[in-house]
Amino acid sequence: MLREQRTYKNLPRKVFIKTYGCQMNVYDTEKMVDLLCGCNYQITSDIKQADLILLNTCSIREKPEHKIYSILGRLKKLKDKNPDLILGVGGCVAQQEGEKLFEKSPHLDLVFGTHSINKLPNLLKKIEEKKAKVCEINMSENGYFDEGVSCNSSQKVSSFVSIIRGCNNFCSFCVVPYVRGRERSRPYEEILEEVKHLSQSGVKEVVLLGQNVNSYGNDLGVTGGFPRLLASINDIKGIERIRFITSHPKDLSDDLISCFKELDKVCKHIHLPVQSGSSKILKLMNRRYTRDNYLEKVDKLRGVCPAIGITSDMIVGFPQETQKDFEDTLELMKEVKFDDLFSFQYSDRPMTHASRFNDKIPSDVKRDRLRILQEAQNEYSLEKNEAVLHKTEEVLVEGVSKKDPHCMTGKTGANKTVNFAGGDNLRGMLVSVKISGVHLHSLKGELV
Ligand code: SAM
Ligand code: SF4
Repeated sequence: MLREQRTYKNLPRKVFIKTYGCQMNVYDTEKMVDLLCGCNYQITSDIKQADLILLNTCSIREKPEHKIYSILGRLKKLKDKNPDLILGVGGCVAQQEGEKLFEKSPHLDLVFGTHSINKLPNLLKKIEEKKAKVCEINMSENGYFDEGVSCNSSQKVSSFVSIIRGCNNFCSFCVVPYVRGRERSRPYEEILEEVKHLSQSGVKEVVLLGQNVNSYGNDLGVTGGFPRLLASINDIKGIERIRFITSHPKDLSDDLISCFKELDKVCKHIHLPVQSGSSKILKLMNRRYTRDNYLEKVDKLRGVCPAIGITSDMIVGFPQETQKDFEDTLELMKEVKFDDLFSFQYSDRPMTHASRFNDKIPSDVKRDRLRILQEAQNEYSLEKNEAVLHKTEEVLVEGVSKKDPHCMTGKTGANKTVNFAGGDNLRGMLVSVKISGVHLHSLKGELV
């Protein structure tokens, strides 16, 4: 079939989408898929077959942003072969760069920002009809929270549910408030409706998403909105587990901490990014808590729920970070012993305060600090995993393991991946697994 014959009105067109960055981008991609499925597109995993290629991008650090330009460079070959191919860039790089992307990559057809996902079908139509490039990066309120319900949900055991978008915190290193705008909570009833729908279509676990879920409801004039939301979701039949990411330590209230004890479906895991173990650096980062505040919250969490899994994010080589500051970070890690840690070298981001700070740390120092920090964390991760050896854990089975087709894979409440021998009939079930082996990033077990 000739490519030109595939129009909106007849044969389905093929779309290839590549997603970069955080869970919010994964969620946004799901939304794009829903919208495109509704206007005669089919997903393809073969980029060469695609009529439309979309890159859903991340600009949180410099490296992933640069990657987009090199990928766009490579896609030029496909566009040269097939001038009808539509190439689009969405997400945070699109929001940040706007029309500048066309200057850097003249073969690009579409730039759509973080608030324009709902407009995607119309933007594509415009390109088709006018044979012109389109850039839409308005940060308007319109349609931003018209989430809809995923058409893929029936296939899933676990599903993301966005509850709050944007961020008001302006941590000095972070580009998010500039590319995703201010905090906006999704209406309470709409979230509950979506979770009920997901549970009816077989979803067992919901992962509530937001840059700072703890401030859910503040912009709606509701205090304590997040613990209340958790309690309401806890009552929804069919949902077995509730997770949420990400929690800002400054907003982790006692009410929220007690949810880990009082709400049986809330998983015993929290991702609580600390970013540094030095109060001086935390102040420069505008995190609005000290090292001691953070340690107090960890103590409270473990007081309420001793087995809680705690994971975190850490940045090394922030401007003005001395060797002593870095040692404070290592010391905090030794004290807390995170179950897992996502660690990054600081990278300057456009528009942010920290990008204008003096005393930047040289690359080789950042690299060495990251290596030392990751070696220390590997030891703690292994130690944390060894603590569950020979214990029986409740695992929500997600599907067949990618590494071994005879194994099923799932997660414990504390968010540890467990692989064990079993059949696909277990998918979506909560099963008991005795832990028989330990790796750095996963556990091995036997069904009991
Ligand atoms: N909202 C979350 C929070 O406050 O913890 C974090 C969201 S951000 C998508 C994920 C992580 O990227 C951050 O926690 C931080 O560790 C890292 N990050 C953000 N900006 C960075 C930068 N300029 N350089 C290095 N790492 C950065
Ligand atoms: Fe970025 Fe800070 Fe907001 Fe997280 S809380 S998204 S790090 S500004």
